[in-house]
Amino acid sequence: MEDKKTVMRMQDKDKRIKNFQEVELGYNEEEALREASRCLQCTNPRCVKGCPVNIMIPLFIKHIKEKEWEKAYQVIQESSFLPAICGRVCPQEMQCEKMCVKGFKGDAISIGALERFVADMHNSIEPKKEIIKNNGKKVAIVGSGPAGLSCAGILASNGFEVTIYEVLHRPGGVLTYGIPEFRLPKKIVEKEIENLKRKKVEIKCDMPVGNAITLSDLQKEYDYIFLGTGAGVPKFMGIPNESANEVFSANEILTRINLMGAYQENSKTPIKEAKTVYVIGGGNVAMDAARSLKRLGMNVHLMYRRGKDELPARKVEVIHALEEGIIFDLLQNPLEILTDENNSVTGMKVINMEYQEEIVGQRRSVQEVKGTEHNVSCDMVVMALGTNPNHEALKMSDIKLDDRGLIMVDDGLTSIPNVYAGGDAVTGAATVILAMEAGKKAAYEIIKRCK
Ligand code: FAD
Ligand code: SF4
Ligand code: SF4
Repeated sequence: MEDKKTVMRMQDKDKRIKNFQEVELGYNEEEALREASRCLQCTNPRCVKGCPVNIMIPLFIKHIKEKEWEKAYQVIQESSFLPAICGRVCPQEMQCEKMCVKGFKGDAISIGALERFVADMHNSIEPKKEIIKNNGKKVAIVGSGPAGLSCAGILASNGFEVTIYEVLHRPGGVLTYGIPEFRLPKKIVEKEIENLKRKKVEIKCDMPVGNAITLSDLQKEYDYIFLGTGAGVPKFMGIPNESANEVFSANEILTRINLMGAYQENSKTPIKEAKTVYVIGGGNVAMDAARSLKRLGMNVHLMYRRGKDELPARKVEVIHALEEGIIFDLLQNPLEILTDENNSVTGMKVINMEYQEEIVGQRRSVQEVKGTEHNVSCDMVVMALGTNPNHEALKMSDIKLDDRGLIMVDDGLTSIPNVYAGGDAVTGAATVILAMEAGKKAAYEIIKRCK
């Protein structure tokens, strides 16, 4: 019999482009059991090596086979603080599932889908009350993304009095303001926040560290500080007319939609209504912006300077974007934004790109094809070209940064005593699982210091 993976049920593509509800619907019990039964329970499991936090994958799948959902959850939780989130957004095809032996001749086990199933089962039951003895130490966490949340959770479970400072009005970092509802429902993130509050973590929103309160103020009040401020400053191309009225960063568009609910009828946050929009970039951020704008009724093109096989976004997002009618303009790059007398966007001058023989890093380089300049029409452009760290929190501190402007750490510790850092602020834009792991590692370093 053919050994195919159990495909996750999904919202129909024609329906989903008219709403922001989750696209993938998850496994039910019968589907999870069927998928788990495909796992070979390898004695030397390669999948574990592919997971950045080395979750004991065969063991949690074995518990699923035995219908021991909570035992499966405990196995995952030993390594991952945010399984309901990582099960949904990890680039599994590049990590655990890439290494699964089943994938060499057929379909890899859907490890992410099984992890999501287990976490959702766990989240559907009433949490047990934790009795935690306070150890008298106070920690301030700056930023409430996955790095800050995991650091806060582990420290709070170990008796620290933890306060999170977040500049935005809602906690969660990119999980809240960046990744759209149709990929990561906000109720999943809110559940993690509620868990922290149950552990007596205080969350102070609308608190820009560096302005409302400085790092040195925090140093006076707290024994330790963890900086999980992310990399939220968008990059632009530096081409003519990029300051035109209808050129936006993907971060701004996604924040308006996700954090401020611009797609909801009663929202007070406006969003530009364009007929045709070009999203520039090929990563998860570009896909999220393109698919969000499609749901607002726009005709969406995605322009990327390389070919389809090199799109850095998760494969499943590329498939979903194509299904939803996003038009991919590959091997093309903008040269100039075209505007009218009111500085409004009317189109772009673009050029075709081609591959060269030369290999830079692990990829062939691309170059412009002379003489292929042409114009495309549009009334909005969204730049999704990556981000830089935002160092507002470090104002007036002499914390050491590397030549890319990233915070330098040694086992999570920065150049300032008792000040730790992790996540995108240290690595540059990366992944949820890596940010979570950095927060966790810093928490255990702090715990070690207090013994
Ligand atoms: P963030 O999540 O950026 O959180 C940092 C927090 O710090 C923010 O809430 C910010 O407001 C706050 N902050 C910053 N400065 C201050 C200050 N001075 N005072 C107080 N608070 C401050 N990764 C995946 O693994 N899979 C995906 O599918 C995926 N999709 C993505 C889609 C989008 C649109 C984006 C933008 C990123 C995506 N990523 C994805 C990357 C992933 O979300 C990040 O790597 C991860 O969130 C980094 O976590 P962090 O905790 O370091 O920072
Ligand atoms: Fe795979 Fe991510 Fe889960 Fe690790 S955390 S097992 S990489 S889905
Ligand atoms: Fe199961 Fe694949 Fe891991 Fe083997 S490599 S234990 S088949 S998930």
